[in-house]
Amino acid sequence: MRLDTKSIKTIWRCKCPKCEKGNLYKSSLTIELNTQCPNCALNFNKSDAADGPAVFLIFVLGALLVPLAITLEFALSPPLWLHVILWGSVALILTLAMLRPIKSYVIALQYKHRPEMFN
Ligand SMILES: [Zn+2]
Repeated sequence: MRLDTKSIKTIWRCKCPKCEKGNLYKSSLTIELNTQCPNCALNFNKSDAADGPAVFLIFVLGALLVPLAITLEFALSPPLWLHVILWGSVALILTLAMLRPIKSYVIALQYKHRPEMFN
């Protein structure tokens, strides 16, 4: 799986890395994987993203949000409660929005590099 436009769309839509049509997750609100692809029957039982997506998000969002918070502090010096509400909300929203696609990406990487996990 190359990281081209088609595979990025597949990852973003949380679809199966093999057929790119079946849903990876049991519902649109959870990060719980289906046991197998509803379209091609690819087995998801042994695939395990573990803490990889969460760690990736912590590093990326931390690297993005902390400089923004520091910049805001130096530019406008808002009260501390505004920082807490603003950056807490932004971090929560971005985490909830990105966790499923990042987990899809990790599973797509596993499918590419360790296909024996999907037998
Ligand atoms: Zn599939």
